Amino acid sequence: QAEARRYDRVLLKISGEALMGDRGYGLNPPTVERIAREVKSVHDLGVEVCMVIGGGNIFRGLQGSAQGMERTTADYMGMLATVMNALAVQGALEALNIHTRVISAITMNEVAEPYIRRRAVRHLEKKRVCIFAAGTGNPYFTTDTAATLRASEMNCQAIFMGKNGVDGVYDKDPQKHPDAVRFDHVTYDEVLQKHLNVMDASAIALARDNQLPIIVFSLDEPGGFRGILAGEGTFTSVS
Ligand code: UDP
Repeated sequence: QAEARRYDRVLLKISGEALMGDRGYGLNPPTVERIAREVKSVHDLGVEVCMVIGGGNIFRGLQGSAQGMERTTADYMGMLATVMNALAVQGALEALNIHTRVISAITMNEVAEPYIRRRAVRHLEKKRVCIFAAGTGNPYFTTDTAATLRASEMNCQAIFMGKNGVDGVYDKDPQKHPDAVRFDHVTYDEVLQKHLNVMDASAIALARDNQLPIIVFSLDEPGGFRGILAGEGTFTSVS
């Protein structure tokens, strides 16, 4: 327990797909509950937790534009999808008695707070989980960039990228190549040069420029998030 407290404030980034379980689309409530329990186990240690959740389980801007939709419209639809996911995770966290705020980069006062940095910091100090929704609020970005941006603004010590089906960063896709090798550590520049599958390039560059460490781990093991915070299990750190 003491070990995990080497982190005071962290950001957990999960993709939208992490919430869909074995479904091909949308939200799977037992999966959402499981993720909420992962967050609770870390929150119980007194660690301040920020979250950024993707929207790919509902809508991705690139898919929409490939089907003839205007890119910016499609991207706004993707951002709205992340708000739906954030509300689902908020509900699951509150069912576990964890005070949670959804903070949206697109104002929609009826469902979420607007993003005001100082207010978000205050929520964290009061041990409320902050879920940053609607990405950066700008088209042509991803929720990975939003995660890096918010983690920097909130002075998080690291971004934890919770993955499904993979426990770190590999030299090639481990699901296609059985001889793929996992890195214990890579630098930001290696990720960019070797096109390693961590985050998109603008998100990695922002993390590099702000010296924000990224820890890529598997969300499949129950208790995995808490273990990783304590330095247990397998993961890849990017710094
Ligand atoms: N998006 C955006 N700006 C942002 C964040 C997200 O336009 O700052 C849109 C973009 O269309 C993206 C979609 O929201 O495809 C869902 O986000 P993302 O693809 O990052 O979700 P994930 O792959 O993590 O589920």
